[in-house]
Amino acid sequence: MPQILIAECMQEISSFNPLPSDYDYFHIQRGVELLGQRGLNSAVAGALAVFGTRGDVTLLPCYGARSGSAGLLSAAGWQRLSGELLDAVAARIAEADAVFVSLHGAMGAEGELDPEGFLLSRIREIAGPAMPIVISLDLHGILTDRMLRQVDGLAIYHTYPHVDFADTGARAARLLLDIIDRRLDPVIARVTIPALVRGDELITRTGCYGDLIREAQRLERDRVALAAGIMIGNPFTDVPELCSQVLIVAERDGERAAAEAMRLAQEFWPLRHRMQGKLIALDRAIAQAKWMAGPVVFTDAADATSSGATGDSNVILAALREAGYSRRVLAQIVDPQAARAAHEAGVGAQVTVQLGGGLDRGRFTPMTVTATVESLSRGCGRFETGRSGFDAGPTAVLAFDNFTVVVISRTVGLVDRALYWANGVDPQDFDLIVVKCPHTEYRMYDAWVEKNFNIDAPGATSADLRSLGHTICARPIYPLDAEVKFDPSPVLYHAPRRR
Ligand SMILES: [Zn+2]
Repeated sequence: MPQILIAECMQEISSFNPLPSDYDYFHIQRGVELLGQRGLNSAVAGALAVFGTRGDVTLLPCYGARSGSAGLLSAAGWQRLSGELLDAVAARIAEADAVFVSLHGAMGAEGELDPEGFLLSRIREIAGPAMPIVISLDLHGILTDRMLRQVDGLAIYHTYPHVDFADTGARAARLLLDIIDRRLDPVIARVTIPALVRGDELITRTGCYGDLIREAQRLERDRVALAAGIMIGNPFTDVPELCSQVLIVAERDGERAAAEAMRLAQEFWPLRHRMQGKLIALDRAIAQAKWMAGPVVFTDAADATSSGATGDSNVILAALREAGYSRRVLAQIVDPQAARAAHEAGVGAQVTVQLGGGLDRGRFTPMTVTATVESLSRGCGRFETGRSGFDAGPTAVLAFDNFTVVVISRTVGLVDRALYWANGVDPQDFDLIVVKCPHTEYRMYDAWVEKNFNIDAPGATSADLRSLGHTICARPIYPLDAEVKFDPSPVLYHAPRRR
């Protein structure tokens, strides 16, 4: 009768976002509230679905914290968050036989640049050396040595754009049950690759990264590996162990796991040149968009809130206005002041506001617009993919000239069309749509636009990685440094040695 403790802590940060994030960025679920994720596309939901098929499993839902991507977590925020999570774990651990933790892996806090490593090492201390701990991770996470020393197994997203949140949780849950039922003796092989990657080749459906992920999946399906994955880190999370890495979890056979991890890492390394952002200059993209039938998307990955940017860039809007682009433009922007001014003025009113440029002041400059308030909302909705809720705070749709801009008060992921729809606008009614996300699912935009331009613009999450100014991650690393040697060596982690 296994009793399984469930916890969650997910945030992805950009070290280049000048605004720290805080405790109140997190949506907290305590105890049985975590079970409210059932039916969603989340790792916890996937794990709950697997555990739910077993009449003999007792759930110990403990604590969940999920934040949108943002800047470095403040020291006070981290202390409160980690304290609450660990207190909640400590309160239930005596009843538990095993632990499942859903993590993102790309957290960073003031004074603690490996938050997940800290949490897992404390959970290991509380749980004792013998208790199985399995984690799920985003492929953009930074899985550290300290994390690997605490866990018995892991499962990693296999899709980008991510659609397999629940599937990953389910794989982690099945692995945890296997460890308990079959008394498995897993070994984890890790090979790190000194490369940061970005760009369209990471799209797993079409890109070369996807070809390698399918090899990892094949290893799982052929039962060579209990779990396999390739993590690429979040290049904007400037922490000591930022890198790409291959992880193979295998039953006992460390040699085979290490050999497969080496093989995938060696296949990955020469592809690093292809896996870089290919950006087009903004003025050139506008000049081309002017004569295209359209519609077109301007992807502004540099200000991608889902990667941790501020979301207040108005660079593309200003350039379109300056260039006299006259067709219908739809954009999104984070600007709490402009949203408040619109709410104070009311629907139908004219407002003159400074739009954008209020958060990342080092990179952006406010632009003055006089706009009509088309509509107002509380900014709540549900994402297309995960079906989880978002709360962008007071939101306004402002219209000026040929521009329609959805102005939100808080950063939320802009990875799909949900924010637009929730505010009564449909991207398909426009000629040029600004999307502040590196990639969306194919059906969302690429399926029906003439061209999706990857715009070279400033921002805390620019795909021009050399423009960002990393100071913490281990060097040399491609593409930040000119001379990078790849001298791979597998490291094995063997949890049951503790037992
Ligand atoms: Zn991710």
